[in-house]
Amino acid sequence: MARQIIPVDPFDYIIFGATGDLAERKLLPALYHREKDGQLPDECRFVGAARSKLSRKAYQGFAKSALEEFVEEEDRDDTCIKRFLDRLDYMPLDVTTDDGWDDLAKMLNDPEGKRIRAFYLAVGPGLFGPISERLEQHDLINDRTRLVIEKPLGRDLESARELNEAVGEHFGEDQVFRIDHYLGKETVQNLLALRFANHLFEPLWNAQHIDHVQITVAETVGVEDRAAYYDKSGAMRDMVQNHLLQLLCLVAMEPPASGDADAIRDEKLKVLRSLKPIDDKTVEDNTVRAQYAAGAGPNGKVDGYLEDLARDADEGEAFSSTATFVALKAQIDNWRWAGTPFYLRTGKRMAARMSEIVIQFKPVPHAMFGEEAGKPVSNKLVLRLQPDESVRQWIMIKDPGPGGMRLKRVALDMSFAETFDGRAPDAYERLLLDVIRGNQTLFMRRDEVEAAWEWIDPIMAAWDDINQPMRTYTAGTWGPSQAIALIERDGRTWNDGDA
Ligand code: NAP
Repeated sequence: MARQIIPVDPFDYIIFGATGDLAERKLLPALYHREKDGQLPDECRFVGAARSKLSRKAYQGFAKSALEEFVEEEDRDDTCIKRFLDRLDYMPLDVTTDDGWDDLAKMLNDPEGKRIRAFYLAVGPGLFGPISERLEQHDLINDRTRLVIEKPLGRDLESARELNEAVGEHFGEDQVFRIDHYLGKETVQNLLALRFANHLFEPLWNAQHIDHVQITVAETVGVEDRAAYYDKSGAMRDMVQNHLLQLLCLVAMEPPASGDADAIRDEKLKVLRSLKPIDDKTVEDNTVRAQYAAGAGPNGKVDGYLEDLARDADEGEAFSSTATFVALKAQIDNWRWAGTPFYLRTGKRMAARMSEIVIQFKPVPHAMFGEEAGKPVSNKLVLRLQPDESVRQWIMIKDPGPGGMRLKRVALDMSFAETFDGRAPDAYERLLLDVIRGNQTLFMRRDEVEAAWEWIDPIMAAWDDINQPMRTYTAGTWGPSQAIALIERDGRTWNDGDA
């Protein structure tokens, strides 16, 4: 079955931070793919902006190299690349000064404000306020304008509020698109389809039938050469506050009244506000924080986090209270989920690159088959986000053939990815064009971001208050033994095998 390509209205995309890593690795390739799929109207334009003094031609050269490096060879088509590059312009601009803005306004030249205009801020969050302010000063904001921002959206509740205020002074909430690219993943949206387009799951989707939920986002990479930068955030701020809590919300939320962005975001917000607070008294039993020690990486021996940090900071020895791994047992205090824990874990330098949601159903209430049939294994729904997206429901069947009843565990593949031709689009491809369509369903609303910080802040404060030990784990493993104990003392185990 071929994918349906839905055209969008003419637009201008302006990327601030156009020479950076995010633009190079993700944004330019994503926009190119939309070009290749024929989704871009003839009139649409892209403008890169950054301090580097590049000509239009030089920026087109930068973009061409980005496509050569980050688009698979089989997807590179000379005609499409040329068409894409022809749409690209560049404006040298230091966003903290007043120079260049008039030139940018002239370049965008849309006096009647007819075109959709999206500003993607692929720059540090400290620049979100100054850019928004100057966009307004130079009359570049109208009701067809959208602003796209990405993590880090604050480092705690207070700074998140400041950031939201700085942007909110110039843009309405319906114009602000806060990207969490996990929400753009096919499997995450499949979760919504499975839950709300089938009768099958919803009656079972509660504490009565679901034993527990696991959400894992594991990376094999370390902090590479960005240790000093990473040290200011860590696993809790960088991963749990946004990606893991967003996934938790989609699993746990009540069925929204409609597919409307706010109907969905209202339900997610209720989940965040129902999370049982973790404080000084409960933090030790419900959380583990850790740093990786020297061990094995994907390409051989690797250093520990503190060595990586000392090297990056050019110091002999480093100390840090930043966790590269976090495991949490979260409880949702509402009728649907009381008694069903959500175990979350994320870390760098883990045994495999793997992100998944596991819905573990309860055992059957009575085992009617004899010993020779084998014990039924409880059902499990596994939504794999990466490396390969898939959705599998593990069920028990009869092992085919003669010889009496023998139970066998099999996976029903519910991803159906193979029924679609070609590659699976990257999350950014969908999200970048959702901005143009004005569809905020897969973007975080201001109150969601702040509610997430409201739950996270006390946990981080409690770590400091009680001086919770920073555990270590060998690089290339699934984390410290305490994270295994966190789940095993409840009689459960992490899903490290089944996809
Ligand atoms: P980066 O590689 O350091 O790029 C920063 C970009 O901002 C460069 O194009 C830089 O270009 C430009 N810039 C810096 N100061 C500027 C100024 N005063 N005026 C105009 N342009 C300026 O950073 P990045 O990795 O692309 O990340 C950008 C932001 O996205 C960060 O906040 C990061 O946390 C976030 N983010 C990144 C990723 C990712 O995969 N990289 C993922 C999620 C979120 P010039 O030096 O030429 O000005």
